[in-house]
Amino acid sequence: MKSAWILRIERISPNDGKGLRTVVFFKGCPLRCKWCAAPESQKMKPESCLRAGRAGIFGKEMTTAQVMKEIRKDEIFFYHSQGGVTLSGGDVLCQADFARELLMECKESEIHTMAELDMYGDFENVRKLLPWLDGFYADVKMMDSTLHKKWTGVGNESILENIKKAALICPPNTISIRVPLIWDINDGRENIQATARYCEELKSCRELEFLPYHRLGLSAYESLGREYELKHLPAMSFADAYEKVKLLKKMDLSFPVKISGKVI
Ligand code: SF4
Repeated sequence: MKSAWILRIERISPNDGKGLRTVVFFKGCPLRCKWCAAPESQKMKPESCLRAGRAGIFGKEMTTAQVMKEIRKDEIFFYHSQGGVTLSGGDVLCQADFARELLMECKESEIHTMAELDMYGDFENVRKLLPWLDGFYADVKMMDSTLHKKWTGVGNESILENIKKAALICPPNTISIRVPLIWDINDGRENIQATARYCEELKSCRELEFLPYHRLGLSAYESLGREYELKHLPAMSFADAYEKVKLLKKMDLSFPVKISGKVI
């Protein structure tokens, strides 16, 4: 039985796939997005923090059986809402063997499975998970690799290539592309259009969803004693995001475009 570094498990989440979901957040991520709302997930090992004056720890090691025990507590919600389990992060692919074992156990129990994947690195890690996923979200943060490296610490070549490879294997409507929309970083007309054209090339694209910039991670930076470099940016409203992506309505795309779950 495998074990992994887990940040937390959230129950009854309505936003991470169909129905109500139990979301397992993994620790560890090779990217360092400047807007990251979960800095406590970036390092693989547990991290000390100070929350409301109290010392705490982000993350712990858990076995597959321990995580499955938590998941099974929610089976009644899955049954009534057609929900299931979503693996998220951090980066799930950093601990792909554990993720695979967990997904296999879920499928044996007929639990619907999804994942939020950054798609960075070796495609073999993606390939390990695909047979056990009913669908997944893939992050495409921006199309220009030089800018991607500037804002996330890594180029985007493996990400774009891995999504294309997965699209060739997956059944139609399996892959949802998600774009965190950040002021003056990836919200320009050119990047938004290029992202849509890229999605159009994928045969398995289910939807293209934009997630407007928010500041919910601020307190996590404070509790870790880390500086948040984008603290000058205001949150982006639905209306702000709509103004930026409405140009896609003229592109006659074969998949729906969404902002925070709402089709535009
Ligand atoms: S990929 Fe996600 S978890 Fe990793 S640094 Fe970027 S926003 Fe944070």
